Amino acid sequence: MKTTKKIVLPESEMPRYWYNVLADMPNKPLPPLNPKTRKPITPEELEPIFAKALIEQELSTERWIEIPDEVRNLYRIYRPTPLVRASGLEKALDTPAKIYFKNESVSPVGSHKLNSAIPQAYFNKIQGVTSLTTETGAGQWGSALSVAAKHFGLALKVYMVKVSYEQKPYRKAVMNTYGAQVFASPSDTTEIGRKMRAQFPGTSGSLGMAISEAVEEAMKDPNTKYTLGSVLNHVMLHQTIIGLEAEKQMELAGDYPDVVIACFGGGSNFGGITLPFLRHKFVEGKDIRLVAAEPASCPKLTRGQFYYDFGDTEGYTPLLPMYTLGHDFEPASIHAGGLRYHGAGSIVSQLRKDGLVEAVDIKQKETFEAGILFARSEGIIPAPESTHAIAATIREALKAKEEGKETVILFNLSGHGLIDMTAYENYLSGKLENYDVPQEDIDKSIDEIKTLQP
Ligand SMILES: *Cc1c(COP(=O)(O)O)cnc(C)c1O
Repeated sequence: MKTTKKIVLPESEMPRYWYNVLADMPNKPLPPLNPKTRKPITPEELEPIFAKALIEQELSTERWIEIPDEVRNLYRIYRPTPLVRASGLEKALDTPAKIYFKNESVSPVGSHKLNSAIPQAYFNKIQGVTSLTTETGAGQWGSALSVAAKHFGLALKVYMVKVSYEQKPYRKAVMNTYGAQVFASPSDTTEIGRKMRAQFPGTSGSLGMAISEAVEEAMKDPNTKYTLGSVLNHVMLHQTIIGLEAEKQMELAGDYPDVVIACFGGGSNFGGITLPFLRHKFVEGKDIRLVAAEPASCPKLTRGQFYYDFGDTEGYTPLLPMYTLGHDFEPASIHAGGLRYHGAGSIVSQLRKDGLVEAVDIKQKETFEAGILFARSEGIIPAPESTHAIAATIREALKAKEEGKETVILFNLSGHGLIDMTAYENYLSGKLENYDVPQEDIDKSIDEIKTLQP
């Protein structure tokens, strides 16, 4: 019998609830703190920055949270997404492992980010907010939010990390096409941007700096709110639709994953695909491994430490408990812009601390080798971020081959790379560099946050 190549769910099978792992975690994450008082932050303190419903979701411990019809309607443009058997990759690796991937690259903007952009725009809209601000690294989150903001009639300003703005001009064009305004960050339109430009002339920018700019804009105007595409609990919550669909699809495929893998920036696609499977571990005691794949040049889960730290460079955000490299850490200009973030979200950080998730760090060349093999065997050019998940998958598949095991691997293809061809061009012409981080650089930026601890 031929194996089914892809498992597709009908729209009627799209999940009606998001899964909130906070209900089931043995140790809940420590609370976010107000940096001035070092006391747990109250919902009221967050209201100038975020929509109320999103703050509620951030703090909720309810297990299942209903997905509004307006959100499900927009999800239907591309959801449910296919679960695909990577038979071509299995063959190329000559492995007994069975490899499946959830294809989030089929969204109109080419990544999983739209899963949270839609509900974030929706909950802001119903509260009467008129404008949104945000930051974007590789441009994926900005593109996704542009679609969602336009749909719900909200204006949008996007602060795009300068290196990506220059490397990825088409991302900017995508955002402009959907009607958003885009600035290279650090920009000269905010106070903090001007300060950064003076302090670090020629800086390539960072997600932390861009967040500072976007939060500053939101704080200036009560009808403007800030949105974040990763890291926070409510973003993980929205992204669980990936794993909830995959759960049904794996069942239809007649397999259950031994290991679930995703690349790791702040943790939203990782949390999205893994948390519904982690529930099986909590509820049924399933033996399942969850592996986060991060760049060797930005290794917060493998080489960072667990501390309270800011989500941004300037210290506008609450203090969050996280595995971090320190908020002043400036990662190398790797092509996987979406993975150049200094910290991990609180949920995944706590799970990592409790030994419930694993992490591996991978150098850029190995990830692109994996990306090229995947393109040639499965026909899809993966996003530079997603190549990390593929490289980790290949490592697992080769281990299965060595051990002669039929390991079932599920990974998340968080996006396609069709707007990232500069990166592939660099790799193919032998110009791609491998970056590592000297331990003393990590130690130094972590030392600086030790004074922030309560
Ligand atoms: C943003 C992004 C990531 C990293 O963000 P997470 O929140 O860690 O998922 C990974 N892959 C793609 C394609 C992205 O756009």
